[in-house]
Amino acid sequence: MTQKSEAVPETSPIPYGRQHITEADIAAVVETLQSDFLTQGPKVEAFERAFADYVGAKYAVAVSNGTAALHLCAMALGVNEETRVITTPITFVASANCIRYCGGTVDFADIDSATALLDIERVREKLESKPKGYYSGLIPVDFAGNPLNLEKFRKLADEYGLWIIEDACHAPGGYFYDSHGNKQICGNGQYADLSIFSFHPVKHIATGEGGMITTNNELLYQKLLKLRTHGITRNQELMEENHGGWYMEMQELGYNYRIPDMLCALGISQLHRADAGLARRKGIAKVYDEAFSDIAGVETLQTNKVAIDESGDTGHAYHLYVILVQNRKGLYDFLRERNIFAQVHYIPAHTMPYYRKLGFKKGDYPEAEKYYAECLSLPIYPSLTQQEQEYIIEKVKEFV
Ligand SMILES: *Cc1c(COP(=O)(O)O)cnc(C)c1O
Repeated sequence: MTQKSEAVPETSPIPYGRQHITEADIAAVVETLQSDFLTQGPKVEAFERAFADYVGAKYAVAVSNGTAALHLCAMALGVNEETRVITTPITFVASANCIRYCGGTVDFADIDSATALLDIERVREKLESKPKGYYSGLIPVDFAGNPLNLEKFRKLADEYGLWIIEDACHAPGGYFYDSHGNKQICGNGQYADLSIFSFHPVKHIATGEGGMITTNNELLYQKLLKLRTHGITRNQELMEENHGGWYMEMQELGYNYRIPDMLCALGISQLHRADAGLARRKGIAKVYDEAFSDIAGVETLQTNKVAIDESGDTGHAYHLYVILVQNRKGLYDFLRERNIFAQVHYIPAHTMPYYRKLGFKKGDYPEAEKYYAECLSLPIYPSLTQQEQEYIIEKVKEFV
């Protein structure tokens, strides 16, 4: 066992992820503060357009956070008490909770141990074990930034008449190659009905709080716009009556899930640097890969095969860099004492007290639980310095 270290840490605290704010970002926010709009101004649409273009989707709807994005998706797809949905236990709980917000039933399928992604074969078994129509949808997650093979998920979903919400919070800028060799960018609307993103500070693009939904489906797009703002429309073509210039209609029960203009200005500015940030993340991941390739006792997750091309270029977006070690708690504490704040992603959702109360129990998804026992996310973010990364690698090696 490791001893409690009395040594003064050799570095200032290194978190597992952090935002990167530049002078240009600050200027963009200040400019909006001095404009006529703090919220619901031109920056919202501009951010939506820029983000839709970035991922190659037709439509984008900016919202107050990633969880709100998930909730609105579930509402737009008509999730209710009759709805049953399958997601992965290795995700942030919001991926599952959005179904519960609408009264629906959450089910899980186990992960593929090599990638920690939702295992499509386990999903297929679940679907086959019930009559058609039993399940309504799937919420797969591009976990850690590792892109799912959504083409395969789409095929399966179509066999069973299911919709797909892609939780792409970890994967802005990620991509995989479809069976025709075409690049498919996460969130491009090609295979998923809806995709969602988060702009929390640890994510690639940070606005403090913020989220985005992308889709190629115009009907869903129109629903989302309405649900984001109380279920109200001002679009004359969609209204049942019209009493004059002031008139608007609340047509269903929506929420205030809007994102302010200030934050969209920040988002647009951050989006300009998204490719550079992504390249830096890939660079950091490569250094970790090489450092741990010959270290007994440190395993790494595999990149989905469909995300790698012949040149070795990767579509992995590296929100997280996960290693697997036997004594995970030991390593976590050892690194913490040395000012390296590694993190664990994730505690399997089905083992949370809330989901246990709904009938799930430990042992239900053994691959997810085995993964959880060993996983540790090492720091990865664009402003992580080479020196800091060397220090992290040295300390991990020292421990194992
Ligand atoms: C961050 C995250 C969310 C939630 O996003 P918020 O903006 O924090 O609400 C949902 N799913 C995944 C996989 C996430 O990483």
